[in-house]
Amino acid sequence: MNRREWIRSGSGALAGLLSFSGLSAAVQNSVSPYRRPRLKITDVQTAMIRGLHVRIHTDQGIFGHGEGVDAVSGGTGIVAGFRAALVGQDPLHVEALFERLRTSGIFAGAQAGQYVAALTAVEIALWDLAGKAVGLPIYQLLGGRMRDRIRIYCDSGTDNRNDPRAREFIAQIIQLGFTAAKIDIDNGSDPARFDRVNWTANNAEIEHMIDKVAFMRESLPKEIDLAVDMHGRYDAGTGKRMARELEPFKLLWLEEPVPPENVDAMRDVRQSTHTPICCGENLFLRHGFRELLEKRAVDIIMPDIQKCGGLAEAKKIADMAHTYYVPMAPHCQASPVGTMASCHVLASIPNCLVLEWHWGHPAERMAEWKQYVKEGDILQKGYIAVSDAPGIGVEMNDEYVRKLLRPGAAWFGEK
Ligand code: MG
Repeated sequence: MNRREWIRSGSGALAGLLSFSGLSAAVQNSVSPYRRPRLKITDVQTAMIRGLHVRIHTDQGIFGHGEGVDAVSGGTGIVAGFRAALVGQDPLHVEALFERLRTSGIFAGAQAGQYVAALTAVEIALWDLAGKAVGLPIYQLLGGRMRDRIRIYCDSGTDNRNDPRAREFIAQIIQLGFTAAKIDIDNGSDPARFDRVNWTANNAEIEHMIDKVAFMRESLPKEIDLAVDMHGRYDAGTGKRMARELEPFKLLWLEEPVPPENVDAMRDVRQSTHTPICCGENLFLRHGFRELLEKRAVDIIMPDIQKCGGLAEAKKIADMAHTYYVPMAPHCQASPVGTMASCHVLASIPNCLVLEWHWGHPAERMAEWKQYVKEGDILQKGYIAVSDAPGIGVEMNDEYVRKLLRPGAAWFGEK
């Protein structure tokens, strides 16, 4: 085909379009490439259930839903304070809105705690909204998917041989198909304690803690990993002793053998043992994890994605950790909405280890898990398949969840 023939053909017509003015017109008028929707935030609403749930509405009728947990008892008021900065804005500039709210709160506690947890719920609602607006699952907006299902571990519900329901709970872990479980061994009401305030464990307490781990390890098949939590209560000597005593059990991790505030103390424990040390459920933003990583104080980090700053922040924390070859195993107390939001982050990072799940007991809580979202039970044989639907990809079952509203709390903007 010579040049004249080519111009006469369809390709020639396309070439005409691709003059500068033609290209500009094509971009304006074409439905492909994709034209981003123009949206304005019209309302920001909250409902306090177990966690803080935020809905961000727009002038196009679509809304985003986010969840914050744990540090959210004052979250409704904090989100109300964000409202003026959000209404009228384009919600697709997620990171700009996040950064504006974060930096405008530097005298209001925006470094950690309640402020960041409330901001987290807003950030997740913005990502859900962005995904719905462009018709893509959030993992796609975070760079795409490295895995299509996320490994989940079960909070065990039992931890000792004297528990009459121990066998029942252990059977449940196996029957639900989990490949990992976790127990809590710290015990503030151990009768062997000499002092209600001091957290130096005596020999009897140490023996009791070891026996819990021994019981679980002999009860679970060896294919099921076991993690152990001490909840950051004990002093440095106890933390080091426990980490050494538990070495024969080849734990998945030992969590917060000492409180997380003193990173040097955490590093001392880590250097004293080959039990992997995990920490981070009460740390916030990248800044909360920087020193922990720089000082090589942990083997595994566990930010709470519904509390630490949100989905993009969690991905950045994971990326920081990855430069130290440290995997991430997030803390998770969230509903299926927040849990699925976490799965989008975990799908998009290389260093995903496992995600927490806390809904196996009591029976009412398990029933709640199964009815919380319209998609039903998203847990399948110890894994959660990452949703391919736009946004987070699960929708709260309002009719059911409304009954779980905290006494006195408003339901998403209703008076
Ligand atoms: Mg914990």
